[in-house]
This record gives sequence, C-alpha cells and structure tokens, in this order.
Amino acid sequence: MSATVTARVSTTGGPTLPQERRLVTEIPGPRSRELAARRSAAVPAGVSVTMPVFAAAAGGGVLVDVDGNSFIDLGSGIAVTSVGNSAPAVVDAVRDQVGRFTHTCFMITPYEGYVAVAEALNAITPGDHEKRSALFNSGAEAVENAVKIARSHTGRQAVAVFDHAYHGRTSLTMAMTAKNMPYKEGFGPFSPEVHRAPMSYPFLDGLDGPAAAGRAIEILDRQVGAHNLAALVIEPIQGEGGFIVPAPGFLPALRDWTRANGIVFVADEVQTGFARTGAMFACEHEDVVPDLIATAKGIAGGLPLAAVTGTAEIMDAPHAGGLGGTYGGNPIACAAALATLRTIRDDDLVGRARAIGEMLLDRLRALQATDPRIGDVRGRGAMVAVEVVDPATGGPDAATTKAIAAGAHAAGLIVLTCGSHGNVLRLLPPLAIPQPLLAEALDVLADVVATTR
Ligand SMILES: *Cc1c(COP(=O)(O)O)cnc(C)c1O
Repeated sequence: MSATVTARVSTTGGPTLPQERRLVTEIPGPRSRELAARRSAAVPAGVSVTMPVFAAAAGGGVLVDVDGNSFIDLGSGIAVTSVGNSAPAVVDAVRDQVGRFTHTCFMITPYEGYVAVAEALNAITPGDHEKRSALFNSGAEAVENAVKIARSHTGRQAVAVFDHAYHGRTSLTMAMTAKNMPYKEGFGPFSPEVHRAPMSYPFLDGLDGPAAAGRAIEILDRQVGAHNLAALVIEPIQGEGGFIVPAPGFLPALRDWTRANGIVFVADEVQTGFARTGAMFACEHEDVVPDLIATAKGIAGGLPLAAVTGTAEIMDAPHAGGLGGTYGGNPIACAAALATLRTIRDDDLVGRARAIGEMLLDRLRALQATDPRIGDVRGRGAMVAVEVVDPATGGPDAATTKAIAAGAHAAGLIVLTCGSHGNVLRLLPPLAIPQPLLAEALDVLADVVATTR
C-alpha cells in the first residue's frame, strides 16, 4: 500500500473509519487503475469485478479504496459482512484464535470451536427437534453436502430445484443453478438427476402461493415422480435470481408435500440467513421448519465458513468418514462465527434488519410511485430489490439497470445487480450501517435514478 494511502485512511477498518461518503479522485482513481492493470495481467478474465476500485479498509457502512475514496456499502460483499467489516468482536476473536492454533483438521484432532458453532446453529435454526451440524468452507460446498446427506438418508437420487435458483458454481451446484450466462456457459456436462420446477414469482406470474406450489408439484410428480426425489432444494427468498419473495403459502405447501412424500426439504439460506431478512432465518417468516438448512455468507463476519444443519436422524445417515474436508470448520472461522452470532444477538441485528427494511421499502416505494420504470419493489429486512422494466412493454430493462448501478458507483455507492434478466438492483447493506449514512445513500440513489435515462 502506498504511503499516501496509509496517511489518509485508517488501515484497521472496523469502527475507527469515518462513516462518510467521500470522493477525492475520479472513480476509479489512479492507484486503483494501476492495480487493475496488474490484475488483468495476473488474474484470469473469468474472475470479473463489479466495481474496479481496490479496497484498503472497510468497517461499519463504508469501504475506503486505495485512493482514499470512501463508499457507502450497500452490498456487504454479497450479504457476508452483515455485522460490519472487521467488526470489533470478530477481530478480537480471530486475533485470539490465530495466536493459539490456526489448523489441525477437525477430522484428525478436533477442537471446541467447531462443536460450539454446531451447538449454536442447532439451537438457532428453525425447529426445536434434535439436530446436528457439519461445517464446510463455502455455500456451494454446503449445498452439495446437503444433497449428499439427503441421498444417503433416502436412498434416492433425484433433486428438485427451481427456476431462477442460484446454488453455486461447483459441478453439482452449477447444475442446480438456473441461469446459463455467466454461470454455466461452456462448463458442461452437468450433473444428472437435477430437475427444475417453476418458482413463485408474484410480480410476473400473479399466482397465489398455493396455486404456484400446485403448479410446481404437478410438474415434479409428472416428470420425476415424488418417490424418486431425495431432496427439494429452495432459497426461501431467491438471491442472485432477483430477490424473488414467493407468494405467501408457496413454501408451506411445498413443505407439506415433501413431508408427505419422504422428500428431504433443504432450505438454501446461504444468502438469507443470520438476521439478513429481519428474522434469524428467512424460513421463519412463514413458519417453515426445513429438514436441512444450508448456510454460509453472513455466518462468520467475512471469514470463509459454511454449514449444513438439520434433523439428527437425517444428518447421521452418511457413514463415518463420508462427510468432511481438510479445512471445513477451520478454527479461526469458527471463532469468527461465534463472535458474529454473539454480535447479532447483543446488538439485536434482527431488529436492525427490520428497521433497515422499512426504511428501504418506504423510500423505494415512494420512488416507484413517480417512476414507471420501477416495476416492482420487494424484499424482506435488509434484503431489498427494485425490478426495472421498460414502461412501454413492461418487459425487463437490463440496460437501464446497468446504467443506474454505474451512476451509483460513480456517486460513491456500492450497489449490485441480479435477476435472471439482469434487471434487478439489489440492496444488502451491512446491518451495522449507521442510520444517517443509509439515509444519505437513499438520497443519492434517488438522484441517480432520476437522472439516468
Ligand atoms: C452465494 C450463494 C451460494 C454459493 O455460496 P458460495 O460461498 O459462493 O459457494 C449458494 N446459495 C445461495 C443462495 C447463495 O446466495
């Protein structure tokens, strides 16, 4: 890092960073442009970036780049740093653990942190039945393992997934992901026995929950046969697919059908978990108790960790040695997770997510009332999106969405897009974002939307 940068910004991140939007160079600045040139020469094109500004420090609701620009963070590194970047409790826990031991491999010589994370997950996930948790490194790895466990338990092979689903980029989860570009193109052949059903998408299909579930069940019954299904895997609110909140009743109807047919119901809460939606887990909004729940992203304040948590009988189906991995449940990541879970509880981040959600929905719905390009405003808690349409046709408008995101970036906001048609602007602020900073971000975003044509 250059001397000018260290002089200008705190390098410790966390709460010491001024919580402000501050642009001091063009975006990207000269130092980011230098690093971008090195990046293109050293990193493959397939690993792309949303905003070409290089991070120097981050904390609370801001990210400071190597040129000293301070951005308001409305992305949380894709719903990961919900407790804030370099959250003080996480930093302390990691420092302490890293000084004691960094790795043993839990499958060789175990350690308490892994067990404590499993106990915590078993306690906070929906349902008060006996549970077990196994830890992994990434969301995709958790989803894959949930499918392995479901297959082992049922002795069946088929897996049901949904339109607009995103479950990861590994071979099996790529097959489970719906969208070809950019996730699947050229990367086949895809894993067999993955079957896709239509999702409930109230803005586009106008169906109520039970009707949308009936449509999905009819297709799965006819094309696969319920008795062949090991698992039904669903995001209770879809993430990459467009922050699609299914119509009320959709998830409970699917849950009833899986229970009646011995199909393992797997909730992929990798993006929605850990207070993000204004509940600890998004399934709680509809009182759905999954058999298995896959988690990652927000679990450990930015350290790589993932989990499968579920009914003891199902989780215990695979034989000894059938589950695991070298790094799964790394002790540093476990320490970070325990600190993250404590912070979520002590700072009432579930309540904070609800308050953020009200603020986002109010403001964006007011914008929608005056701008016909905003077709839909939806979400729960601090997971809110705007679907941008062409007012003439009602169809998706990816170009305007991209232009709004670019305008927001230039104005000092980190925002992301998503959706099967690339026409959804999504907001995922850290739950630790100060309220006035979020208000400023919404003012800036409203200006950007108004001036983008
Ligand atoms: C991000 C995500 C994944 C994949 O997680 P990785 O950690 O990137 O492997 C899976 N499911 C959902 C719903 C996600 O949002």
